Amino acid sequence: MEEKDSNTKTYQFGTKAIHAGVQPDSATGAIMTPIYQTSTYVQEAVGVNKGYAYSRSKNPTRHALEENIAAIENGKYGACFGSGIAAIDCVLKMLNPGDEVITTNDLYGGTYRIFKTIFEKYGIVFHFVDMLHAENILGYCNKNTKLIWVETPTNPMMNILDIEAVAVIAKANHAMLAVDNTFATPYLQNPLDLGADIVMHSATKYLGGHSDVVMGALVCKNDKIAKEMYRIQNSSGAIAGPMDSFLVLRGIKTLHLRMQRHCENGDKIARFLAGHSKVAHVYWPGLESHPNHNIAKKQMRGFGGMISFSLVGNQMSAAQEVLKKTRLFALAESLGGVESLIGHPASMTHAAIPKEEREAAGIVDSLIRLSVGIEDVVDLIQDLKEALK
Ligand SMILES: *Cc1c(COP(=O)(O)O)cnc(C)c1O
Repeated sequence: MEEKDSNTKTYQFGTKAIHAGVQPDSATGAIMTPIYQTSTYVQEAVGVNKGYAYSRSKNPTRHALEENIAAIENGKYGACFGSGIAAIDCVLKMLNPGDEVITTNDLYGGTYRIFKTIFEKYGIVFHFVDMLHAENILGYCNKNTKLIWVETPTNPMMNILDIEAVAVIAKANHAMLAVDNTFATPYLQNPLDLGADIVMHSATKYLGGHSDVVMGALVCKNDKIAKEMYRIQNSSGAIAGPMDSFLVLRGIKTLHLRMQRHCENGDKIARFLAGHSKVAHVYWPGLESHPNHNIAKKQMRGFGGMISFSLVGNQMSAAQEVLKKTRLFALAESLGGVESLIGHPASMTHAAIPKEEREAAGIVDSLIRLSVGIEDVVDLIQDLKEALK
């Protein structure tokens, strides 16, 4: 069968999202990548196989997804893992005891936890730095600095870090720059194009997009980093399964359409909240009042559907009341699905971070985080209006 031209870089985003990495099934012509639910592959002779020998190392469904994610991130190599955290685990395992990592001080809670409670005890040193001004990083750079880990927009404060500026510092110090691109998605931001070495995703969120799978992904362009990435993926074994790979492959086919609606709804809801008398602050990078709105405009193609806001009076009880009263916004952890979610970072996603560190990063008791879904926005605004009464 003639190979379809499915991976060319010349296609626009939506075309790549649907076609990259995907070929009609060579056995049947099935247009959708089958779920190759198999652990092993019959070999023609010892050492002669069709590119697949054992599914921890390589599985056709996962491979199609890995190629697809690599393409939409403008990278060369993709690797999919059992969770976003397992993808982070892979990057950290590229380091050695004594190596130092510089990272943001308002990290996703689970990222903070794996850094502090898993890798610190193996001798990796972490510096948690306010990266709003990239030059703050300079004071922590030394010959042991091997990795700079960035999240932007950050969770849950929606801080925007200047990826290009951090990449310059990483290069000058011979450190890798990894960017957690979960919130922005490749539709809105491509860190590799801005100088990052590794892009990480919790595919659980927007890439999957339907709150039905937990998965992580890494993308890179550099051959040496890729070799390490695949060595660790195979050696540590935290791979994504074929069924989950199928679901995320399907999810990505509509990523561009979903993101367009997430951005539109996010815009309308951020502006509604900004004009509400009970709301103290709204954190959304698309607002002109956002401190790093200009950097967001420079490195993102849109501002997404993640919004945080705090309440006038900053009462924990008032925030909990709002969380109890919404009917469409479901009270749940996670984000990035078609349905809207509401959460309370201080007691949910960020409970693992000590209170003083939490508040220093702006995660106050009344802070509420929204993952704005793709429902009709009038209904979402009505729901928030009622809950804020
Ligand atoms: C959810 C999330 C993770 C962790 O991913 P899992 O799939 O839950 O393991 C990492 N970073 C960010 C920004 C996230 O939102």
